[in-house]
Amino acid sequence: MELQQHVLVVPCPAQGHVTPLIKLAYNLAYHGIKVTFANSEYIEAKVLAVISDVDREQCPITLVAYSDGLDSHPEQRYGQGLMDGLKKYMPANLEKLIKQINHSDNKEPLTCVIADLTVGWSLEVARKMGLKQVAVWPAGPGCLALALRIPKLIKEGVIDEYGSAIQDELICISEEIPGLKSSELTWNRSGDSAGQKFLFDIALATKQAAESASIILCNTCDEIDSSSCALVPNILPIGPLPAMKNLNPSIGTFSSQDSSCLSWLDKQPSNSVIYIAFGSTALFSQKQFDEIALGLELSGQLFLWVVRSNIVNRSSAEFPDGFLERTSSRGKIVEWAPQEKVLAHTSVSCFVSHCGWNSTMEGVSHGQPFLCWPYFWDQFQNKSYICDAWKVGLELKYDEDGIISRHEIKTKIDQLLTDDGIKANALKLMGDARKSVNEGGSSYQNFESLIKYLKA
Ligand code: UDP
Repeated sequence: MELQQHVLVVPCPAQGHVTPLIKLAYNLAYHGIKVTFANSEYIEAKVLAVISDVDREQCPITLVAYSDGLDSHPEQRYGQGLMDGLKKYMPANLEKLIKQINHSDNKEPLTCVIADLTVGWSLEVARKMGLKQVAVWPAGPGCLALALRIPKLIKEGVIDEYGSAIQDELICISEEIPGLKSSELTWNRSGDSAGQKFLFDIALATKQAAESASIILCNTCDEIDSSSCALVPNILPIGPLPAMKNLNPSIGTFSSQDSSCLSWLDKQPSNSVIYIAFGSTALFSQKQFDEIALGLELSGQLFLWVVRSNIVNRSSAEFPDGFLERTSSRGKIVEWAPQEKVLAHTSVSCFVSHCGWNSTMEGVSHGQPFLCWPYFWDQFQNKSYICDAWKVGLELKYDEDGIISRHEIKTKIDQLLTDDGIKANALKLMGDARKSVNEGGSSYQNFESLIKYLKA
């Protein structure tokens, strides 16, 4: 009897990383691979706290957890402390976990580790233990191409050895993909030199891990992004993951999804609701939050708005006086939405997004036009793809006080909703993305070759 191949999937402990790796894990399980998914204990507790009994019962993968070593330093679970802590404690703990799994499951021992490039040390552990290694890059290929170009950019005098731009001009990593302003380099949005160093170090570590990976899975497809993919050796585009095999696991979110918004959407006219969501980490000042609310009110449109409980400087937001009463008949506010189901809903007309890569791919997969409000890291580059390369969205602009005003929000919503060209581009892009994951498409074939490699 043929032994089932057994793969360990290791994400970076953050929502935007766990989500795509869970989707990948489900797809692998669907193709007959046995999958164990290793979260840190800290993340697993969040995941288990919101998992429904049905999802738990139907889950086709095994969830396990290992210590991140930070229980006695919980304040280090952010930024530099987190990355240092992970590198210090987790490799040995992961090694121990692999040994434990193989000891208790000796009939089908682990054969491969599939790990996030952001935790590239997991691939080192796999190498050391004689297991196959497959890397996953959960952001866009352009972002990885930029990291790989760092030495060349330094050599050409475009950036210095700390990542700061030397010239104030558009930085181009290839002729075909949108140029970046120096402020849009992934490491240049931190506001201070310590933050920049932290982000630049992550880019350098990612580059190093990418250079030693023989396969890098990426949540994109050649049909929509061949130029960026061409800049990353060993890349295997297998996305957009959400559409693949129509699997849509709700396991892996850290907050419980409020499905009441789906029945609310059912009652709204087709193509009438603006969906606003800024992912899991974006934060706003109270002043900026007020402008979003008042901009939505001024637009006169129906809206579904995700307001996380920590969205205003890590604490809960206060709505402007009377806003909730005035908009109660045309607005729905939830703390966390089943985003992919929302984006697939026929009542939704556009997506106001922070342009995280998962959100970008989810919006693209469902033909949504975007209003872009990037916040951090690769989101500025993703905004350039959306607005300049694919032409499926518009960018919200800050005023001289550093605020995106209610008037800007209303004006851009009006502009987006009446721009037939953008909608047509969004539908064409959706078609290309779906073609890629359908039988015979490039991502479909790449996924088949991944399965063959894992089963070999
Ligand atoms: N998401 C969700 N419900 C929400 C908001 C976001 O399920 O109300 C999911 C979204 O579908 C995406 C992920 O959270 O898969 C966010 O990832 P992304 O890369 O877009 O942003 P990040 O959170 O990393 O900034």
